[in-house]
Amino acid sequence: MDLKTTKTKTKPYNGYKSFDYLEPVKDYKPYKLAKEVGRVEPFTYPVSDEKEELVQKILEEDYIVSLHEHTFVTPEDVDSIFEFRRQGRDWTGYEGLSISGLDIVFENYMDGTAFITSNAGWKWNDVLHDLGIRYSDFAHQDLVIRAETMEDLYRAKEEQKVAFVTSLESATQIENEIDRVDVLYGFGVRVMGIAYSEANALGCGLKEKNDGGLTAFGHKVVERMNKIGMTIDVSHCGDQTARDVIEASDKPIFITHVGARALWNTSRLKPDDILKACAEKGGVIGIEAAPHTTLTKKHREHTIESVMEHFEYVANLVGIDHVAFGLDTLFGDHVGLHHAFANALSIGSSHSGEQFNEVEYVKGVENPAEAYPNVVRWLVNHGYSREAIKKVMGENVLRVLKETWVK
Ligand SMILES: [Zn+2]
Repeated sequence: MDLKTTKTKTKPYNGYKSFDYLEPVKDYKPYKLAKEVGRVEPFTYPVSDEKEELVQKILEEDYIVSLHEHTFVTPEDVDSIFEFRRQGRDWTGYEGLSISGLDIVFENYMDGTAFITSNAGWKWNDVLHDLGIRYSDFAHQDLVIRAETMEDLYRAKEEQKVAFVTSLESATQIENEIDRVDVLYGFGVRVMGIAYSEANALGCGLKEKNDGGLTAFGHKVVERMNKIGMTIDVSHCGDQTARDVIEASDKPIFITHVGARALWNTSRLKPDDILKACAEKGGVIGIEAAPHTTLTKKHREHTIESVMEHFEYVANLVGIDHVAFGLDTLFGDHVGLHHAFANALSIGSSHSGEQFNEVEYVKGVENPAEAYPNVVRWLVNHGYSREAIKKVMGENVLRVLKETWVK
């Protein structure tokens, strides 16, 4: 392994693998999982030794936050993903997380791929099952802690742990039940999206051609989320729904994982007016890096360079105080997963109208373990000040949480 990679400060990790407290075969059906570290050739963004020293100092001293991630490990054979999902049991990439430099992860669990009892996803029971089984696993290890307050986030950094903030990309699972917002809050959910690909009782997702905006029920949910202290996300909302949510919310919101439509014209990315409206309200935009999302005309092959072109564009548009990173990576073959779940994830809609070269993985930001140190390296190498890096790697997100959470 590259010497620079091995220098990244690791958090204490005792080798625990998910569900070590159970017996494979007897208690669950085992699958061969993808490698957390070294599945593809590791990539360290090249910087001088002097700059690498600063990178390591930043990783050690400052808050490193991912505003959007799925830290599960997929089966090595990604074609078995449907059958694997039916088991309702996801493995967390603890080993990878321990070398990721991350202090706080907004974890989104199975999310749009929670097909435990359904082929369409977003079922109330499936969402709760997914959270419960992951929480059970967390309770048997020492690296990850569940964070529900600011205090939990600070404690994680102090104790060299990784804080997980439970997030859901859509509110589809609450159906038409407003009190389910309270129930989810009780189950630890602290960030929730309004709609995913398809429309729901609250508003429209990015797949819909006729976005009627936030519904009357959607307005009630926004109000309840503001009151209860759950931060709102509009990453997958249709444009009108996103605009309505920003206007309706009393508090700042997140667009946790997105890019600029001005650079790549697809419905998965947001137009300038929505990015600006989010920032004007005090919100923060996390830059996305899932395969083939944040492409640009200049970089039609997805790598860290195209991702950072989106970062610079958004930072110039809305200011450095309103940008962060929600790179949306996982451990395993993300491109293969997209092919398997193409319909549910609206992969077609997010590619509409633009030609690109498909990659096997996004070089530089392939998985949660390598992505964040490389982003810091890129920022240091491009002359960003320590203060600016501190803001985009964590402080901006913490500011919004302080304004939206109740404690
Ligand atoms: Zn997403």
